[in-house]
Amino acid sequence: MKIHEYQGKELLKRFGVTVPRGIPCFSVDEAVSAAQALGGPVWVVKAQIHAGGRGKGGGVKLARSLDEVRTLASQILGMQLKTHQTGPEGQKVRRLLIEEGADIRKELYVGMVVDRVSQRVCLMASSEGGMDIEEVAAQTPEKIHKVTIDPVAGLTDAQADDAARRIGIPDASLPQARAVLQGLYRAFWETDASLAEINPLILTGDGNVIALDAKMNFDENALFRHPDIVELRDLDEEDPAEIEASKFDLAYIQLDGNIGCLVNGAGLAMATMDTIKLFGGEPANFLDVGGGATTEKVTEAFKIMLRNPKLQAILVNIFGGIMRCDVIAEGVIAASRAVGLKVPLVVRMKGTNEELGKKMLADSGLPIISADTMAEAAEKVVAAAAR
Ligand code: ADP
Ligand code: MG
Repeated sequence: MKIHEYQGKELLKRFGVTVPRGIPCFSVDEAVSAAQALGGPVWVVKAQIHAGGRGKGGGVKLARSLDEVRTLASQILGMQLKTHQTGPEGQKVRRLLIEEGADIRKELYVGMVVDRVSQRVCLMASSEGGMDIEEVAAQTPEKIHKVTIDPVAGLTDAQADDAARRIGIPDASLPQARAVLQGLYRAFWETDASLAEINPLILTGDGNVIALDAKMNFDENALFRHPDIVELRDLDEEDPAEIEASKFDLAYIQLDGNIGCLVNGAGLAMATMDTIKLFGGEPANFLDVGGGATTEKVTEAFKIMLRNPKLQAILVNIFGGIMRCDVIAEGVIAASRAVGLKVPLVVRMKGTNEELGKKMLADSGLPIISADTMAEAAEKVVAAAAR
């Protein structure tokens, strides 16, 4: 789950990370009052969307007067902000953060993720922070320092100071940098975050170390432990199909292709997507209906896939283990009838009651294309989608 920058900053502040003074706003008038309340002379008007790259996309602007705050707020609020993370349609800006302008001497980068190889939290730090960090990572990866954090010891003073020195923090500012890095780690650890990133972390003219941006993602499997974080969820920023799917306990992720996939089990779902790609197709979604899919769940899954205007064919790939193939066949038939299916449907099922399931599909009179192997299923669905 993602949250907005201003929410991330409020959270980091509780862990001792210094952030600029700022006020979140939902209207132009609120933005002007916020600037007034903060006091001048320089403010930054920042679009709040769940995507990075806002600066480059025109969603972060400097204002030198209250009039300018008003003008910029009215330009940015409601705009369809396109960044390298939003996709070509962009994301509508519904919230702003009005922040005091900072005196930037140097833009640095710090971030934390779980490193799957070491199975530990990894701190990444670079002196080359700011809006081009992706380029730094791609072209000069040696400029990104990595520190693996021991879960018992946490981020030690020595590790924090060493990382801070490597990214060019002067000695006088080391205590502040240490507070930021250790605060970031504690925030990451205690909230079950999957990503915590400050880009840029800045060194100001008078030697302060401040988080000018904040990005936090949280592990959804741990959200039950954090009702305060669940409160921060902004459904406007999430894909409507994914919200709908979560109501039915379906794991659904919308993708860019045209072949819908309905599969039981996340591993089989990924293998199905890979096989579709292997045969030259593009999956329209990831969808795991889970182990105990009922007719109702399968019907909802079909409805959610069919909301996607790009959908041109569907592949149902089921392994009948605990789940019986005849139950799935019943679900597929009921769902196809209920939604008046117009796109070609390829079904592959294996396992318990496979023969019965296949016979039910054949007897249903629906134009279902059946397949035996994964390769055959993928080949058939790619061909059907291309027609
Ligand atoms: P994004 O990462 O989405 O582009 P940021 O919050 O990092 O958005 O802002 C982009 C850039 O705008 C920063 O790298 C920084 O140069 C500038 N900026 C952001 N906030 C402030 C601020 N409060 N004062 C001065 N400059 C800022
Ligand atoms: Mg940033």
